[in-house]
Amino acid sequence: MHNDLIVVGGGPAGVMTGFLFARAGCSVTVLEKHADFFRDFRGDTVHPSTMEILHELGLLERFLQRPHSRVDRAEIRLAGRDWTIGDLSHLKTPAPFIAFMPQWDFLDFLRQEAAAYPGFRLEMQSPVAGFLHEGGAVTGVRLTTGRELRAPLTIAADGRSSIVRRTGMLELETLGAPMDILWFSVGKSGKGGGALRGSFERGRLAVLIDRGDYWQCALVIPKGGADELKTKGLDHVRQLVAEAAPDLDLGEIDGWEDFHLLSVALDRLRQWHRPGLLAIGDAAHAMSPISGIGINLAIQDAVAAANALAGPLAAGKDVNPLLGRVQRRRLFPTGVIQAAQKAAQDNVIGRLLKPGSPLGKAPLPVRLLDRLPLLRRLPGRLVGLGIRREHVRSPEVRPG
Ligand SMILES: Cc1cc2nc3c(=O)[nH]c(=O)nc-3n(C[C@H](O)[C@H](O)[C@H](O)COP(=O)(O)OP(=O)(O)OC[C@H]3O[C@@H](n4cnc5c(N)ncnc54)[C@H](O)[C@@H]3O)c2cc1C
Repeated sequence: MHNDLIVVGGGPAGVMTGFLFARAGCSVTVLEKHADFFRDFRGDTVHPSTMEILHELGLLERFLQRPHSRVDRAEIRLAGRDWTIGDLSHLKTPAPFIAFMPQWDFLDFLRQEAAAYPGFRLEMQSPVAGFLHEGGAVTGVRLTTGRELRAPLTIAADGRSSIVRRTGMLELETLGAPMDILWFSVGKSGKGGGALRGSFERGRLAVLIDRGDYWQCALVIPKGGADELKTKGLDHVRQLVAEAAPDLDLGEIDGWEDFHLLSVALDRLRQWHRPGLLAIGDAAHAMSPISGIGINLAIQDAVAAANALAGPLAAGKDVNPLLGRVQRRRLFPTGVIQAAQKAAQDNVIGRLLKPGSPLGKAPLPVRLLDRLPLLRRLPGRLVGLGIRREHVRSPEVRPG
């Protein structure tokens, strides 16, 4: 089977890349190692910048028909009360809010829309084992089954543990993250509501995502601290959760198997490409969950890659001289967001997670944002639309 493009990984970056290149008339195979998209640890936030792209592609209306909830203000609970720290409602964009949609629904939506283009193939349960090389260039992939696929371009969209990182094919620069996350879910006791709640109570930090009939919860813990927590026992962890989110009903949590440890990383590749290969999304730059922006950056990378490469690739041109353009375009917004995430990690979360450092008073920026509605628009704009947002410029070859 002929491929213009092979995409490793069926996350937000990979499926969107498959969609856009197939839309431009390329023959694309996206390879995803899992059998389905159903994994709770994936983030759920679809930001205005992503919905603007869906609008440009004519997909926004259908996307918003899928079940989701909407948030146009960011609130945190800090030092005993709720503070409003961001406002997106003023944004001049087709969808001025964050849509919370389980990521498996979002990916399923993109897959369904991509299926309209004859060049799109998504193969599930297809783990890639490594790359094929010829004369210093990547020429395709080898699956764990031994099957080989060849294409003039391979895009690595296989996330934070990408093969390009594990094998040292592209050099990694680590920025560091002071925290890990314990992920768990509990039933709703009828109390509470809203799509997202953050709580910094008494030096504990928990984030709660509303999934309809249950809460998906993240307890933020110091980096590498899971073993120590295990030694202290389950009751200790239940106590930490109860301190962070006092109105959560923890009745169903009765074993360690109810918790999943997620390692948080903040890093990026020094160079995102080499002949025949381009890395995008978390494979190129692992994002911290702070501000829930990683999915949206991954989507913007896919748009930038398609803008630069899809037309020439569909026309059979050599795209190697163009690969550097994608990194040049995306490095600046990635670097700015990572710097902001690192500042938040070091100055707020890292300090908060140190033993014996409960936050008695909200920091000045939080108090100012809460008091001044106009000021709140600034974080709303940064988080909602990001920096150097992408617009779809890749061509469409209409099916049929
Ligand atoms: C705890 C946590 C919570 C987060 N919450 C949010 C949030 O709410 N909002 C947000 O925007 N961002 C969030 N993020 C960040 C976000 O998850 C990532 O930035 C985003 O998923 C990156 O998308 P991606 O497509 O590049 O990579 P991924 O989503 O990691 O997708 C990579 C895909 O590649 C597949 N794969 C891996 N290896 C192979 C292989 N060898 N062969 C085939 N397939 C392979 C994987 O199965 C996966 O489907 C969070 C991150 C963490 C750690």
